[in-house]
Amino acid sequence: MPKDFLKGVKDEYDVVIIGSGLAGLTSANVLARQGYSVLLLEHHYQLGGMATWFKRRNGHIFDISLHGFPMGMIKSCRKYWTQEIADSIVQLKGVRFENPQFSLETTFDRQDFTCILREEFQVPDETIKKFFDTARGMNFYDDQDKTTRELFEEFFPGRDDVVRLLMEPITYANGSTLEDPAITYGIVFSNFMHKGVFTFSGGTDKLIGHIKDELLANGVDLRIRSLVEKIELTPDRKVSGIVVNGKRIGCKTIVSNANLKSTVFDLVGEENLDRRFVEEAKAVRLNNSSCQVYVALKPGEEIDYCGDLLFHSEHKGFDIDAMLSREISSRTFSFYYPSTRPDREGPGRSLVVSSTNANFEDWANLPGDEYERQKKDLCETTLDCLEQYVPNVRERADHVEASTPRTFQHYTRHWRGASFGTKFEGLAVSKALPEQVGGLYHAGSVGIIMSGWLGAVNYGVIVANDVDKYLTPAAAGV
Ligand SMILES: Cc1cc2nc3c(=O)[nH]c(=O)nc-3n(C[C@H](O)[C@H](O)[C@H](O)COP(=O)(O)OP(=O)(O)OC[C@H]3O[C@@H](n4cnc5c(N)ncnc54)[C@H](O)[C@@H]3O)c2cc1C
Repeated sequence: MPKDFLKGVKDEYDVVIIGSGLAGLTSANVLARQGYSVLLLEHHYQLGGMATWFKRRNGHIFDISLHGFPMGMIKSCRKYWTQEIADSIVQLKGVRFENPQFSLETTFDRQDFTCILREEFQVPDETIKKFFDTARGMNFYDDQDKTTRELFEEFFPGRDDVVRLLMEPITYANGSTLEDPAITYGIVFSNFMHKGVFTFSGGTDKLIGHIKDELLANGVDLRIRSLVEKIELTPDRKVSGIVVNGKRIGCKTIVSNANLKSTVFDLVGEENLDRRFVEEAKAVRLNNSSCQVYVALKPGEEIDYCGDLLFHSEHKGFDIDAMLSREISSRTFSFYYPSTRPDREGPGRSLVVSSTNANFEDWANLPGDEYERQKKDLCETTLDCLEQYVPNVRERADHVEASTPRTFQHYTRHWRGASFGTKFEGLAVSKALPEQVGGLYHAGSVGIIMSGWLGAVNYGVIVANDVDKYLTPAAAGV
């Protein structure tokens, strides 16, 4: 008999959360703390969504998306999760750039960037200050027509090298381009510049372990291997339930952490929505996806310090198409030293994860043999490149494998394996969903500013507060 992952589930909940990405998990926790009955359904066998990890022979543990996030994560985790989780967040020591235009290491904060821009790029102090103040002052309600390209042209005309320094890490961080609204750049960049780049000491598995304990302690009913197939509506367009693994469960509200487009088109269905909203949802562009190569050195093999994050590029200028191309010349290496998992017993572990932005189409339709050949090629070219930072890496490596946009699509069900949700216009559609269907909310990576670990956690909180207002209007003062 196949295992029933829904055994003992109740017939009805106040809230059903579809998906256990950081936004879904955070919404679940906030709502459970407020006393609502919450059921969280995740189709994968592991919680976390993109915030995930996998284990391999010889005890290797690879993190998928633990490369860096802004300091704001400490405050959000303290407030909406636990002090213990917040206390495990530590700053990365060094972010390194190696490309034909410059070679430097930075703590990736305003103070250090000011020195670098002044001393290595000869930008006048006044321009640097104005630029940082402008970026810092940007918010969601500002002019959304101005592009990031225009912002850079205003402050650093003709300075491709400066643009590369300021933009390349953000393009890697969330897939944004020079044509995206300047506010999305300004908000994300300033979040990082506030105090630098942070990580979770102990690894994603430890974080999600704490999160799971907290959710259970707060009474959330957690179910893995539970694929939501349909959102059920009343005739007057309010949510009444979901169908999961073929079973119907009733609910008053739903927070969908699934991809925005799959929520609208696969789970609700366009026939249940206003035509104008459907057109807007159709027009939402998905963000790009990623390829990664995971390299574990033999237990006990150590890497000489190379920085924590290394933006490597052989391209002569900053070129987003080149960053997305399968002919890779730009990679971000994350170096994980034994200190990344301080509690771990046994010989130290050193791992490297190479990430590249990627187009789904380049991988989607490759036949089986060709797909495997391309993945092998990706591993080989990555090792060639890594050799300059980790000498003799081939002989020292114990395990090497690659993931592609197809991998991300498979595990998270995101359309086209989008790793950072949608472009900016997705935010308005996500926010407008409850106006279309009473009690239906979306919380998950959208609009660039709501993506990434911090964006997803914070969006989860915002949406949980909206759900609370819907469920208990009087208490919320509505
Ligand atoms: C390679 C890579 C590197 C990254 N690096 C960083 C980084 O260094 N720093 C950073 O801040 N961010 C990084 N990110 C982005 C960050 O991981 C994501 O933005 C964030 O984790 C997304 O959270 P989310 O809540 O939007 O949901 P997701 O993580 O996308 O999770 C959605 C969940 O919903 C589930 N689901 C979908 N449909 C259904 C259904 N029908 N039924 C049940 N479950 C369903 C999925 O299985 C998934 O678990 C990276 C992402 C990738 C891919």
